[in-house]
Amino acid sequence: MGELNLNRRSPCEENRIKLNIQEKISLSDYTTFKIGGPADYFVKPGSLDEFVQSIEWALKKGLPFFILGKGSNILVSDEGYHGLVIYTERLNGIRAVNNGVEAECGALIDDVVDFSAERGLTGIEFLAGMPGTVGGAVYMNARAYGGEISGVFKRADVVALEDGKTTIKIFNKEDMNFSYKYSVLQKRRHYLLKALFELQISNPGDVKKRVEEIRRLRREKGEYIFPSAGCIFKNDYSLGVSAGKIIDSCGLKKTRIGEAEVYEKHANFIINRGGASSRDVYELIKLVEKKVKEKTGIKLEREIILLGFEN
Ligand SMILES: Cc1cc2nc3c(=O)[nH]c(=O)nc-3n(C[C@H](O)[C@H](O)[C@H](O)COP(=O)(O)OP(=O)(O)OC[C@H]3O[C@@H](n4cnc5c(N)ncnc54)[C@H](O)[C@@H]3O)c2cc1C
Repeated sequence: MGELNLNRRSPCEENRIKLNIQEKISLSDYTTFKIGGPADYFVKPGSLDEFVQSIEWALKKGLPFFILGKGSNILVSDEGYHGLVIYTERLNGIRAVNNGVEAECGALIDDVVDFSAERGLTGIEFLAGMPGTVGGAVYMNARAYGGEISGVFKRADVVALEDGKTTIKIFNKEDMNFSYKYSVLQKRRHYLLKALFELQISNPGDVKKRVEEIRRLRREKGEYIFPSAGCIFKNDYSLGVSAGKIIDSCGLKKTRIGEAEVYEKHANFIINRGGASSRDVYELIKLVEKKVKEKTGIKLEREIILLGFEN
């Protein structure tokens, strides 16, 4: 009996194999900072159903889990993450629905932008060139060049985790409580499966022109030269000046800890000059906060999400 039991797989173990849950996967390949220690467990669900099953697997194992899009707004600690990382890359379906576009959570925003432009659908091109996914963009209420994703968001299917159980719910725009860099997904244990964006009919040529213009502006700002996670701090519009300008006014551009540096071209970016540790970036974030507070009295608020940090 004892031996038989040893060889028998538990349902949990069988699910692990079916879902292809891997162990000790370095997260540095899965963040735009190119930094991060290993995840104890890592899975790339191949369907929305598997996405939900992955969450349920973590729940059964009593493990924390984290939904990872393109990793373009996070800093993962050097020690990594003691839980399951659910990486959404394969959930990348995009389809046209009347005048709108429906996209799965792991679809790249840039692909949604191209898909829409190709069909002459306008409204989402302001996010051209942003390296995130649909899930990350909705979670963060991503914004750029005068637009905000809440402006085109119509509804979403979400997995709601309540009392240890998962259910699929439909969230309309009013359920999302969007505000500056905020959606309700940040507060509740609700995870985006797919979203529908409502767009307007226009001319493909005009939309594509605007898309290329925005991509050019981003390239000119040097956004893609070094690994980064975009803006580290939120803007406080009541101050009438951006976080980047405040940091710059404190003379902090090019301040460096190890291989992490406050970007010369955009003071709200911290760049990895090659081989920076997560600790380097984290210490630099804290240094910027301290210097800005000392020199201006302003308390910067972080936009970047930290994963796997104790303090
Ligand atoms: C060069 C560069 C330029 C950038 N420019 C901009 C910009 O113009 N405007 C802007 O707003 N941001 C910008 N960013 C930041 C970043 O791209 C956005 O915040 C983006 O929305 C993050 O998407 P992501 O898929 O990378 O999310 P991740 O970084 O992987 O995750 C961010 C958060 O979203 C959550 N999340 C991801 N998927 C889901 C899901 N399916 N359900 C629930 N939660 C989920 C994660 O758990 C995490 O908490 C930039 C970043 C870079 C590197």
